[in-house]
Amino acid sequence: MEERKEWPIKLMWSSPILPKAGVFTWLALKKCILTGERLHRLGFLGPFRCIMCKKAEESLDHLLLQCEEAQTVWSFLLGKLGWMVPLPNIVLDLFSSWNIPSCRSVFSSLWLVAPSLVVWEIWNERNIRIFQEKEDSVESFLLRVERAIAESVLAAARNHNLAKHPYTSEDKNIQANWLLVNYQPVNGYLRVNPPLEKEEVKWEPPTKEWIKINFDGASRGNLGTSGVGVVARNDKGVILFKGAR
Ligand SMILES: [Zn+2]
Repeated sequence: MEERKEWPIKLMWSSPILPKAGVFTWLALKKCILTGERLHRLGFLGPFRCIMCKKAEESLDHLLLQCEEAQTVWSFLLGKLGWMVPLPNIVLDLFSSWNIPSCRSVFSSLWLVAPSLVVWEIWNERNIRIFQEKEDSVESFLLRVERAIAESVLAAARNHNLAKHPYTSEDKNIQANWLLVNYQPVNGYLRVNPPLEKEEVKWEPPTKEWIKINFDGASRGNLGTSGVGVVARNDKGVILFKGAR
């Protein structure tokens, strides 16, 4: 039998992964997560159906990998990473076969943190459904996973020393089709930028023999330093008066 490679859990603490997700991954790999199957084995009475699909018993491998809801998240992630491989059925296999980047670059950290953040977010969603009796739509669930990963990628980018670790072409591909194109940090959160709509603004002359006066002002705070500008033009666009203070 082929021996499993150990997931290098130490790497988690030096990467920009959320500490909670790191701890959860470590517990999951030690099979210490209190899923329905485990509670059942500990003597608790069920039923312990998977809250996500409501079809199978909730085991760790089912909840985080085999469940159809989990499969949606994994296919979404792998599609984004451009990595089309069949997923294993067992969480331990997933982590030991995950392609850990050998070089340290901005977006290689994405590869490192992504599976932990995915299992962590699935676990969070499962808890929200059980304990808060709320159910997120698939879209907002996926958006949350994407945000968690985006935040880690941005943290990695901020800590990144470009002189020491230049971008690889793989980094650029991931950057292009991943998050930084679509996300900007706003007040510490990330939001999807709506596509920019360009509206051309251009000065229109007034009708003949009229004068058009344009003015604008700005103030730094209420009763702070202020400025004002004014310009008067005729229908030919000739400036008759201008001033600013
Ligand atoms: Zn399920």
